[in-house]
Amino acid sequence: MRCFAWCIFAAALPVAAQTSDWSKVNEEAMRHFQALVRIDSTDPPGNETRVAEYVKKTLEADGIPAMLVAKDPARANVIARLKGNGSKKPILIMGHSDTVQVDASKWTFPPFSAMRDGGYVYGRGTLDDKSDLMAALMTMLLLKRSNVKLDRDVIFVSEVGEEAATGPGIEYLVNEHWNDIEAEICLAETGSVKRQNGQAHYALVETTEKQPKGVKLIAKGPAGHGSRPLRSNAVVHLARAVETIAAWEPPTRFNDTTRYYFEKLATVSSPEDAARFKGLFDPQKAPAVREYLAEHDPVSYSMLHTSISPNIIKGGYQVNVIPSEAEATLDVRALPGEDIPAFYDMMRKVINDPAVEVMPEARNQRPGAPPSRIDNEAYHAIEAAYRKVYGVQTLPYMGTGATDMAFLRAKGVQCYGIGAMVDEEDAPKGFGPHSDQERILEEAVYKHVQFFWEAVTLMAASKN
Ligand SMILES: [Zn+2]
Repeated sequence: MRCFAWCIFAAALPVAAQTSDWSKVNEEAMRHFQALVRIDSTDPPGNETRVAEYVKKTLEADGIPAMLVAKDPARANVIARLKGNGSKKPILIMGHSDTVQVDASKWTFPPFSAMRDGGYVYGRGTLDDKSDLMAALMTMLLLKRSNVKLDRDVIFVSEVGEEAATGPGIEYLVNEHWNDIEAEICLAETGSVKRQNGQAHYALVETTEKQPKGVKLIAKGPAGHGSRPLRSNAVVHLARAVETIAAWEPPTRFNDTTRYYFEKLATVSSPEDAARFKGLFDPQKAPAVREYLAEHDPVSYSMLHTSISPNIIKGGYQVNVIPSEAEATLDVRALPGEDIPAFYDMMRKVINDPAVEVMPEARNQRPGAPPSRIDNEAYHAIEAAYRKVYGVQTLPYMGTGATDMAFLRAKGVQCYGIGAMVDEEDAPKGFGPHSDQERILEEAVYKHVQFFWEAVTLMAASKN
């Protein structure tokens, strides 16, 4: 058998790091997990302090000091640290303690029951993100109990406000507690292990993400009487501009992550899909493949370029009045490193209408940052851990949405979005994150703890 870098890491692990009685660990993991899900921390308003108190009590019961830090007392973050010998810079392991809201009337099992049924645990936050929070918490407990010697500090953060406003959460932590959380590497939400037909298939790790930008199209023209149509009608110019920009395909650009992602995706896909993903790199075949993806696989298509989605349109106020102005709000998701002013200039050329302005506007933005590396010790450790626990390959990918990791990547932290195993068939059936029947496989709860433990131990445990 060929040996990759991960063999070397695995072989070098100290005996003390080869924990443990997993059935006992599983039992404890499930207990903490259910307790966390049973605390209603829907955001807004969040009230994550109740989660923070549970987490702090659990850490301190094992002798790990934990600090609550809060911009708003009802919304406390938790920071805890296990000290290493300082030969490497710290690793930060993070989960968010808030969840999205619920419509309780739609749930078969009450949303904060953490009910176990048919091999699943049901409840708000089971996938997003109390599974990560629990696995990071368990990793701290296991590291402490097994007395693992660490080359780097392991910092744990239970973070508030991920689902709504980031002010009391990651922004507060980065701005007011940077000394307490500064790290070389971070593990946080957004990845997953894809399961198909009951089998783990491959792992996805988010190494970079697109950056949301706000843009408006504003069309102007003379106002007038609706009985006398004008060619200069602002609504007509806006409609034409929206149609033109939506039909435009911005230039395709790969980065290290997306190139590697599509290459690797081809190796775990059906022959037809594999041919398509390979075709993306063949100038003859690429246009037809992109057209196929635009129609059938919007996530992959969005990864190819800075994307534009016209999502709000406004114009006019009375049926017999030609309005002097109409506007459309576009959701632009920029590739990392996109030259945004140049991109807007391209949009102006495509629209090619002096009556329509392209107006950048402020948006609750997450900072841009280069992709995290996929050739370093941290990434190889994640690959090794997924291989050991699930027997699968790891694919790095670019998130099309935005996460709190953007704030950490902007500070130079190498961030990896990881996550528990999910059935690929499950989300379309209405059981995914944010759904009315959010659920996680019990097996995924247990394996996620093992994965977290393996990955963090590989990155942090002393090798002698
Ligand atoms: Zn989340």
